[in-house]
Amino acid sequence: MKTINAIVALILYFSCFSKGVLAYKKYYVYMCQALVNEFNLDCGNSTFYECRCKSSVFMPSLIRCLEDYNLSEKALSREIDTIIFNCNEYGYMNVTTEIIEEIYEENKDQFITVEEFGTNLTAPLTKPIIMPEYNMTMAYKSINMFYWQLATGENYGGIILSYWCGVFLIAIAINFIKKAAPHVFLKMNSPVVIKFRQMFVTPATFGFKHSIPIGCFKNIIAMATPTRAQSLIVFGYLTMCLILGMIKYEPFEPNIWFPDQHEQLIRYIADRTGIMSTTQIPPIFLFAGRNNLLQWLTGWSFDTFNVYHRWVARVMVFYAFMHSVCYTWLERDWLSYEFQWRYWRWGVVATITCCIMLGQSIFILRSKFYEFFLLFHIALAVFFVIGMWYHIVEMGWMNWMYSTIAIWGFDRAVRLGRLIWSGVGTSQTKIYPNDIFKMTIDYSKRWKAYPGSYVYVHILRPWGFWESHPFTVYQSALPENEGKLMIGGTVKEGMTKKIAKDLTKAGGEKTIKVLIDGPYGACHDVARYDTVIFVCGGIGVTSGLSYTMDIIKNKYHDQHLIFLWVTRHQSSLDCFEDEFKFLAQSDKCDVEIYLTSPDANSSDDSCSDNEKKLSDTGSDNSNSRYSVIKGQRPDVATLLPTYISQSKGTTAVMVCGPPTLNDLARRTVTDNLGTGNGRVDYFEEAFSW
Ligand SMILES: Cc1cc2nc3c(=O)[nH]c(=O)nc-3n(C[C@H](O)[C@H](O)[C@H](O)COP(=O)(O)OP(=O)(O)OC[C@H]3O[C@@H](n4cnc5c(N)ncnc54)[C@H](O)[C@@H]3O)c2cc1C
Repeated sequence: MKTINAIVALILYFSCFSKGVLAYKKYYVYMCQALVNEFNLDCGNSTFYECRCKSSVFMPSLIRCLEDYNLSEKALSREIDTIIFNCNEYGYMNVTTEIIEEIYEENKDQFITVEEFGTNLTAPLTKPIIMPEYNMTMAYKSINMFYWQLATGENYGGIILSYWCGVFLIAIAINFIKKAAPHVFLKMNSPVVIKFRQMFVTPATFGFKHSIPIGCFKNIIAMATPTRAQSLIVFGYLTMCLILGMIKYEPFEPNIWFPDQHEQLIRYIADRTGIMSTTQIPPIFLFAGRNNLLQWLTGWSFDTFNVYHRWVARVMVFYAFMHSVCYTWLERDWLSYEFQWRYWRWGVVATITCCIMLGQSIFILRSKFYEFFLLFHIALAVFFVIGMWYHIVEMGWMNWMYSTIAIWGFDRAVRLGRLIWSGVGTSQTKIYPNDIFKMTIDYSKRWKAYPGSYVYVHILRPWGFWESHPFTVYQSALPENEGKLMIGGTVKEGMTKKIAKDLTKAGGEKTIKVLIDGPYGACHDVARYDTVIFVCGGIGVTSGLSYTMDIIKNKYHDQHLIFLWVTRHQSSLDCFEDEFKFLAQSDKCDVEIYLTSPDANSSDDSCSDNEKKLSDTGSDNSNSRYSVIKGQRPDVATLLPTYISQSKGTTAVMVCGPPTLNDLARRTVTDNLGTGNGRVDYFEEAFSW
């Protein structure tokens, strides 16, 4: 299934790109049409097509002009087919090849030259005319340039997509080597490799902040900074977009379609930016999807694709904006006329919609009103796609819209399939003091959770069942819950608050029905390392547990695990008591828990009970392996280097916590990549995007 999906995604990509490369075609018919249109055809009240398609003046002049370009018979008949298509499709005429041939035959003896026509160029043309060579050359150059510009827009869009293809191919190759030959990868630890990773791969772009958003104006304008590797990829993309958006315009005079060189340039910019904007739409939808096969192929997280989703969207909106501004300027004197056309109106809708989407995606709205942001974003995306559809449906470039809809439809269909496949789940849900809850979900068991996986949970309640929230899932420590999905959650302001209220009303525990969309997420191969250090903060413990429970249950090889958990309250420890008992019983894992709340000391009794309980369950050995430190925070910047330097063999550091903890750990590990007794790798999970 996954292979088929991957092939479909790649075909979609390459089909878009190849269409772009093939797009450039010489339209002789438009060159000739432009030349004959220079004359007064005396159309009166008839429409553009009525006046031309069956005209004994226009049609023979057009055919003669085509013949004078010395086209092969095949090419000539292709051009005539274009005339027929345009007449019938846009002019609602009933023209056939036979009719055109007949008109030509009847009038072929009537041709006059420009000299015979005379110097009064505004006089009506009453006989078919032969175009002078100079005009034909000028028309050839003008129209060729125009269509070349259109094709170049699409080709440049394709080149930009091929940049992404290149990036993904490298990522897929690295992922493949990691999976197929992990030892090769784990041995890559020379000083040059370490330096390279310290400079380009592991750190945050500006050294520290990655999970912590950087912002200004009281964080109204804020964003999470990508890692340096992500930034380099984005930088390459932006550079290409900038360069390819700016080069090769080459306006010239005389030009049959755009006599003013300035307007000509603006028109080329308008078309280039419009087309390049369209080419960026499919990757935006692909990167935003939950079921993005590239996630699976590259091993990159949704979070990473989200970074690219945002940057590609910014570029697309910028191009669309430029396109709209340029066209508005070009048509400044005919704006009310242009609004009569459907393509124009929907183009305006599409541009406004995508600009609003960009505005409503700012960090502060996403973080404060996530559900509103999401629903509004999806509704606007629907509008945008409809707008784009009607904007370009009669012009071409629909391959980009078909790809977009296919990608989106695929994601939605797979989501639905996953919900059905998982069945209606029954969750035993319990709330603990200090806003922590735990769900033990019985579901169809047609698939299994893996380390690092998360699922989207829909709570089946009359209002809000459509909301789906991501939660990390892990294996249960208790045999009676074998195969069930375990979730630990903290109460926030939205759906989780409603769950908490329901649970409190029900006395702390309740069975609720849920739908599950999953599993998603990349599984980091930490099980292959000799030492794995987990640094978890708050509810990030679920991520650490998902790996440790798996490693201890499956005993991959002789490993040493260190589990460092920083949390505020004793109640969190109570919530995960079963899991920590399980860890404490193993002889592989050192557990160090920091209860940071100032009142942690005052709850000494329960805490020491708990601690004792946990210790009692293990061997004597487990006592020394398990510690709870109250009322203080760990000094991660000192502890991590110590753990790394004392580790045996290769070391993985897996971090999941609040932004400050993640960023501190990232920087510390980056600084210490070379201080272990083997390769050191950093892995991070973040509970936000
Ligand atoms: C991959 C991943 C794994 C996660 N695992 C866990 C976990 O194991 N335990 C846990 O307690 N939390 C986890 N979270 C966070 C959890 O999804 C949010 O806390 C939860 O959705 C909040 O719901 P709410 O309606 O109460 O939030 P609100 O109070 O409305 O929002 C709080 C914050 O949660 C985030 N959020 C809200 N809804 C969504 C959504 N549908 N999708 C993504 N983010 C959302 C927003 O960033 C928002 O700022 C995880 C998040 C991600 C991305």
